[in-house]
Amino acid sequence: MTDKLSKKQDTRPRDAVPMVKAEGVHKSFGQVEVLKGIDLEVKPGEVFCLIGPSGSGKSTFLRCINHLEKINAGRLYVDGELVGYRQQGDKLYELRDREVAMKRRDIGMVFQRFNLFPHMTAVENVMEAPVQVKGASRGEARERAMRLLERVGLADRAGHYPSQLSGGQQQRVAIARALAMEPKLMLFDEPTSALDPELVGDVLDVMRDLAESGMTMVVVTHEMGFAREVGDSLVFMDGGVVVESGHPRDVLTNPRHERTQSFLSKVL
Ligand code: ADP
Ligand code: MG
Repeated sequence: MTDKLSKKQDTRPRDAVPMVKAEGVHKSFGQVEVLKGIDLEVKPGEVFCLIGPSGSGKSTFLRCINHLEKINAGRLYVDGELVGYRQQGDKLYELRDREVAMKRRDIGMVFQRFNLFPHMTAVENVMEAPVQVKGASRGEARERAMRLLERVGLADRAGHYPSQLSGGQQQRVAIARALAMEPKLMLFDEPTSALDPELVGDVLDVMRDLAESGMTMVVVTHEMGFAREVGDSLVFMDGGVVVESGHPRDVLTNPRHERTQSFLSKVL
C-alpha cells in the first residue's frame, strides 16, 4: 500500500444509530423461505463478518440491505432509515425507483466476480459512477480515481483494461470503484472466493486498510483469519437464521452450537 491511512480510532458515541439493523427479516422466493427472521445490528465503523454454509442466505441478506431484494416481513434499517419503504404515521409506502437509487448511492458493494466494465480502463471504471451518477466533472473524477487506485496499490495500472489485470487487481479496482461514490457502508460478498490463493492477500490487505480508516463493512467471507484479525463482530448463519454471534475470536475459538462447530471444523 502506498498511502498510509489513519489508524482506526473508536470515537463512536455509545448510543450511535446502528448502520444496519435487522428485526425479524424474512425473505422468500416463491414458496422457498430463505431468510427466516434475521435479527442483527451493525454499528458504525464496525467490521461485521457473516459466515455460514452455501445456501444459508448470506448473499440474499446483503442484497436486501442493498435494495436488490425486497424483504417480505420484519424491518430492515440502514443508518436509521427503513430499506425500501417510507414510514408515515403507522403506514408504510414503497419507495419509488428514484428514491431507491438515491439510497443505493450510499452503499458500496463488492461481489465475488468483479464485474468491471470490460471496455473501460481501470481509471475509467473508477470514474464512471461519480461522472454519470453524481455529475462530477471528468477532471475532478479522474483525479479522485487516481488517488483511489493509489490507495489500493494500483496507480501504475490505471490505463490497463480489466483483461490485462489479474483477478486480484481487478477486485482491487472494483473496491476503488465502490469507494469512488463515498459510501457510508461497504458490503463484500465473498470478495476473495474467486481468486487464486496467491492473490487473496493483496485484496484482504486493502480491506484491512479500509477497516482501519473507519469504514463500516459487512463482509461475507470464508477467510477466517481475516474475520479473526479484522472483524469486530461475527455472525454464523445457517438455514436462514442466525445460529450464533459474538466477537470473532470467541465464536471461532469457542463455538457454542454444534452447527457452528461442524461448519468451522470444515473451513478452519
Ligand atoms: P449463500 O449466499 O449463503 O450461499 P444465497 O443467499 O445465495 O445463500 O441463497 C440462499 C437460498 O436462496 C438458496 O437456496 C438459493 O437457491 C435461494 N435463492 C437465492 N436467490 C434466489 C432467487 N432469486 N430465486 C430463487 N431462489 C433464490
Ligand atoms: Mg453467497
